[in-house]
Amino acid sequence: MVLRQTLLAASGSDRLRTLVAGTRVTRGVVDRFVAGERAEDAVRAAGELAEYDLLSSIDHLGEDADHPARTEDVTKGYLRLLRLLDDSGLTSWAEVSVKPTAMGLGLGEEGETLAVENLGRICAAAAEVGTTVTVDMEAARNVPATLRVVARLRARYPWVGCVLQSYLHRTEGDTAAVAAEPGARVRLCKGAYAAERGSAYTDRREVDAAFVRSLRRLMTSRAYPMVATHDSRLIDIATTLARRYGRTYDDFEYQMLYGARPTEQRRLASLGARVRVYVPYGTDWYGYLVRRVAERPANAAFAARQVLTR
Ligand code: FAD
Repeated sequence: MVLRQTLLAASGSDRLRTLVAGTRVTRGVVDRFVAGERAEDAVRAAGELAEYDLLSSIDHLGEDADHPARTEDVTKGYLRLLRLLDDSGLTSWAEVSVKPTAMGLGLGEEGETLAVENLGRICAAAAEVGTTVTVDMEAARNVPATLRVVARLRARYPWVGCVLQSYLHRTEGDTAAVAAEPGARVRLCKGAYAAERGSAYTDRREVDAAFVRSLRRLMTSRAYPMVATHDSRLIDIATTLARRYGRTYDDFEYQMLYGARPTEQRRLASLGARVRVYVPYGTDWYGYLVRRVAERPANAAFAARQVLTR
């Protein structure tokens, strides 16, 4: 837990970012968890996943935009990505995931409005090509604003997905609220960010127990649960709860990250389950990768072995 906190604190350090960026081990971790630098790389990855009946949700890496001009660049990147998906005939396989702080959330008082505007443009483009958008959840301080943004988008695009993080104390209340919306697409995960003291469970068992409570709530509701975990125990519980509450494989989905447990992803898909892989691409991969190593230091060790034995 101490290592996790230290690594998550490091995710904001520019000095460390420069220091690690050029190493071979870092390159190994990037290659494993990031589809590539260009939108074309992500589309290619989505096509390869589709060959194994795996759905995807593509994320343009980057967060905490520090200027409205930056949010415009990222928005245009998503619009281009959606066109590429359409050209490749992949829109029934791939959707997009978007970080609200890349859209403007956090840029002062106007930031929330800017995020709604930018995300609205991405949703309109997604609707045009026949796919969907999920709004990622970031640090705890952004949760209330992110939920407001999602609510405003859903008034126009009811299929917009939101994310809930079981490590936050507030999440069971949020789950009850979103579960009341028929068809609401809700990704449930444990949570990957450093949380303010007192706002989150710190014991893994408590995080898992809270995950199961929210999962049960979603499975018994009319929402569409998206179960985002690599944890075999939670995957089994999700399968059991879905059966118990009469859900077929079309009524919920499993989600995992690109590069994490690919054999398990394919195994679940071969059973007929809907499995969606979160596919990040871009050059701004530092924060994303630090979170992957923080939640599982073995991810760095694995990549280091691959590089050093090459
Ligand atoms: P952990 O507690 O990290 O691991 C439990 C067990 O799973 C491990 O002991 C191991 O047995 C197995 N395992 C985990 N990773 C691997 C691996 N790479 N290879 C083999 N076995 C493994 N977080 C957010 O805060 N906001 C988001 O918007 C968000 N979106 C996400 C979207 C998706 C599709 C996924 C899968 C995760 C997302 N996350 C998000 C990250 C999430 O919150 C967790 O930090 C991350 O998934 C790790 O938690 P875990 O449930 O996989 O289990």
